[in-house]
Amino acid sequence: MSPLRIAIVGAGPVGLTLARLLLNKPDIEVTVFESEKSREVRGQGGTLDLHTDTGLAALKEAGLYDEFLKNARFDGEALVICDKHLTKYVNFSGHEEGSTRGRPEIDRKLLREMLLDSIPPEIIRWGYHLRAIDESRNLIFDQGTETGFDLVVGADGAWSKTRKLVSAQKPNYSGVTGITFAIPNAKETAPQCYSLTNRGSVFSYSDGKSIMSQQLGNGSLSVYVWSVRPESWMDNMPFDINDIEAVKKSIREEFQGWHPDLLNCVNHGQDPVPRRLYMLPVGFSWQNRPGVTLIGDSAHVMTPFAGEGVNLGMEDALMLSRAIIKASKSANRSDILTEEIKTFEKDLFTRAERTASLTNDLMMWLLFTDSAPRSVVEKVGVRVATFEHRSLVMKALYPFLVASIYAFYFVFKLFH
Ligand SMILES: Cc1cc2nc3c(=O)[nH]c(=O)nc-3n(C[C@H](O)[C@H](O)[C@H](O)COP(=O)(O)OP(=O)(O)OC[C@H]3O[C@@H](n4cnc5c(N)ncnc54)[C@H](O)[C@@H]3O)c2cc1C
Repeated sequence: MSPLRIAIVGAGPVGLTLARLLLNKPDIEVTVFESEKSREVRGQGGTLDLHTDTGLAALKEAGLYDEFLKNARFDGEALVICDKHLTKYVNFSGHEEGSTRGRPEIDRKLLREMLLDSIPPEIIRWGYHLRAIDESRNLIFDQGTETGFDLVVGADGAWSKTRKLVSAQKPNYSGVTGITFAIPNAKETAPQCYSLTNRGSVFSYSDGKSIMSQQLGNGSLSVYVWSVRPESWMDNMPFDINDIEAVKKSIREEFQGWHPDLLNCVNHGQDPVPRRLYMLPVGFSWQNRPGVTLIGDSAHVMTPFAGEGVNLGMEDALMLSRAIIKASKSANRSDILTEEIKTFEKDLFTRAERTASLTNDLMMWLLFTDSAPRSVVEKVGVRVATFEHRSLVMKALYPFLVASIYAFYFVFKLFH
């Protein structure tokens, strides 16, 4: 019997996790098609926190957890959530591996490199940008048409071309646009911002705006400045994005009254890049179509306010790999593969809706609610805690959890 031929469109963290999970399986042949010309092409900036039950579970099944530990930053679990005055509503310290909160950080660049190093280079076709996929699942590239795959997996991100075969839905503008900066060698160049970030993350919210700073493993900080804005704002920005002093001046004017330590992170920022945030509707799903499916952002792109996107995507890769491997071992592969994919998608829709709903709630509460975060901190706490802890024991303890969170912030607000 010939092997199951799987095409993965997109060599982001999710597509590569799937490729790795399918590696060395006797009856499976994988090809990854990636737009970028080579692995060095794009600055894969930013940091990602991987979670025990999802992103880390996928890495463990892929046999990459030990490799991950070489670049994991458990001190990156330090987290402050505050308002514009630096009133800290959440203040977690960093950890060691043995006392982890289950959310170690890794630079996006290092995660991708680790995954690429774990896959034979010949299965990745660099410079293959999918132009279209036709009704017969032929993949159309500038280089020609690729055919004959038993399954095409769209892992091609927010603006997925593969998605078009199963749905006409496009991502919607979230209402939030930002500018990202980098601060290289922050310990030396911006010591105050470095110490504020505490090797982890600081997320400040007030007045429909946010300044965030996050430590990267290479010593730099990523700084994000988000605001609720119309979608067209980026087309008519009130400054020339290449004039960094004009960009910072405009942000300082817009963020008047914000704590100087937060603005200091903007003042030290370099390489400003504007960015609109898009999301698929909460509960997005599609009618199953044999021979094609979606994973990662192509299936459920969402805003970053819950920090769950890549984790959900890596869990998709894990679940899909199990479905494909199961089908590859059966006698009636084609039918079993179709059934397995239907089951996989049903589960994906449930997981994605749950996570997208959390993400949307956090965005709405923190950026679109008057007097946030003070006015919403209790419900944010309850929402996140019940999302993360799903065991029966935790469900039984739910009333106590809610009571303690509300009691804690009642007292906290008396003194802050
Ligand atoms: C500012 C920001 C911060 C974030 N922080 C976090 C966080 O802390 N934690 C978290 O869990 N998530 C976070 N996310 C979300 C996370 O980055 C995404 O969920 C994740 O990158 C999705 O991975 P992916 O592989 O599905 O898609 P992508 O990373 O978008 O990769 C898609 C790949 O497909 C390729 N491609 C695209 N189109 C084509 C085509 N037509 N043909 C061939 N190849 C194509 C692209 O070049 C790319 O390599 C954040 C997102 C943003 C914007």
